[in-house]
Amino acid sequence: MNSHDTEKIAGILKGQGYDLIADPESADLIILNTCSIREKAQHKFYSYLGYLARLKKKRPSLKIGVTGCIAQQEGNRIHKVNQYMDFSFGSQNVMKLTTLLNSDSFQAAIEENDLITTTDLPADRDNGIRALVSIMYGCNNFCSYCVVPFTRGREKSRPYENILKEVESLANNGYKEITLLGQNVNSYNGKCSFPQLLRFIGKVDGIKRVRFITSHPKDFTVELMLAMKEVEKVCRHVHLPLQSGSTRVLDLMNRRYNYETYLEKVKKLKSMIPDIAITTDIIAGFPGEMGEDHALTIKALNEIEFDGIFAFKYSKRPGTKATLMDNQVDEGVKSERLQEILQCQDIITERKNKALEDHIIEVLVDGRSETDPNQWVGRSSTNKIINFMMPDDIPENEAKCIQFLNVRIVKGMRHSLEGEVVRG
Ligand code: SF4
Repeated sequence: MNSHDTEKIAGILKGQGYDLIADPESADLIILNTCSIREKAQHKFYSYLGYLARLKKKRPSLKIGVTGCIAQQEGNRIHKVNQYMDFSFGSQNVMKLTTLLNSDSFQAAIEENDLITTTDLPADRDNGIRALVSIMYGCNNFCSYCVVPFTRGREKSRPYENILKEVESLANNGYKEITLLGQNVNSYNGKCSFPQLLRFIGKVDGIKRVRFITSHPKDFTVELMLAMKEVEKVCRHVHLPLQSGSTRVLDLMNRRYNYETYLEKVKKLKSMIPDIAITTDIIAGFPGEMGEDHALTIKALNEIEFDGIFAFKYSKRPGTKATLMDNQVDEGVKSERLQEILQCQDIITERKNKALEDHIIEVLVDGRSETDPNQWVGRSSTNKIINFMMPDDIPENEAKCIQFLNVRIVKGMRHSLEGEVVRG
C-alpha cells in the first residue's frame, strides 16, 4: 500500500518537474512515507528525524514533508515537535501535494477525503510489467491490535469504471500483471462486488495475471472462490491472514471468525482450486495468549500447510484496544513462540517446495537477481520466487525483453526454488 502511495507521490512530483534521486544530501525535497503498523517501523522514522534536522540546518531551502500513517496519527503535533517540517498529509490527501508544496507555512492535510476514490492520480511505476492498482482505501474492521482504521480511515471503494480505465491503460502500456490493493479487498463495493470486479478485469486484453491483497477471512465467500476458479487470469495464490489458531485469541483480536470457519473456507478453496497456494499472517504473543493457544497456532500451521507465512511478535500500537489489555505477554515468551512458529513453517515450506521438483512452471520474469547477478528471477502464478540461469545463446538485450518463460524446478529450498529454462 505504501509502495504504491510512493509511486503516486513520485508521479505527481514528476509532473511538477522533480526527479527521483538516491542521495538525500543533494535533494531539494524529501518526503518520508511512514508506516506505523509495528513499533519498529515507527522507531525507524523517529531515529531519522535528527538527520533531517541537520540537513535542513545546512540547507534551509530544502523542503521536508511527511506522509503515511505517522503523519495521519500525529497531525499538527509533528510540526510542533519538529519545526523544520514543511508539510504533512495522510494517504487520502495525496492529490493535495502540489498545494502543500507551494505553501509558505506548515500545512497538514490529514482529514478523510472521499475524492481519493475518484481522482485519477499519475503513478511513477518502477517496473514496466507488474503494476499495483488501488481499488479501495481504509478499513472498517477494527481488529483490536491494528492501527489502520485510525490512520487510513473508513473503507472507501473506487468506482469499478475508474479501476477498469486504469487497468486498460496499463494493458495498453505493456503491463502484464496487476495487483489489486485494499486493506480488505473482499468487502470492495465500488458499484459492483469484488468477484464481479475480478470478472471485469479478467476481460481486459493484454493483462495476463491478476493478484489481490489483502483478504479478510470473514468476507472470503464461495462467490469469490468461484470467480478465482473461473477467471483464468486470477493467480493461483491467496493471502488469507489467520493471525492465530486459537478461537479464544481470535475473539480477543476481534477478528470475527473462528478457527473452524477459517479451516472450512481453506478446505473449500483447496477443493475448488487444487493448485492454489495459500499464505498467511501470524501474530505471536497477543495479550492473553496462553501456552495452549500458541499450541493451537502450531497445530493450525501443520493442519493447513500454508505455502508461506509472515509472522511477527505482537507489538503495542497507540490507540488500539489490545494496548490496554491485561495479560500482555512477556517479550522473551513472545520471541520463543515466534521462533517456534517460524521453525515449524520452515519445515512445511521446504517440504512443499521440494514437492515441486521436476514440475514445469510458467514464470513472469522480474529480471536479474539482486543477490546473484548471474541468475535471473521470476514468479510463478502461485507467487513463488524462482531463480534460473538464462540460456547462454540468448543475448542480454533479448533476455531483458523476455516476459514469460517455462522453467523446470530442479531444486526446492526453504525460501526459494531453483529452475532451468525449458526450450520450445
Ligand atoms: S482487517 Fe486488516 S487493516 Fe483492517 S483492522 Fe483488521 S488487521 Fe487492520
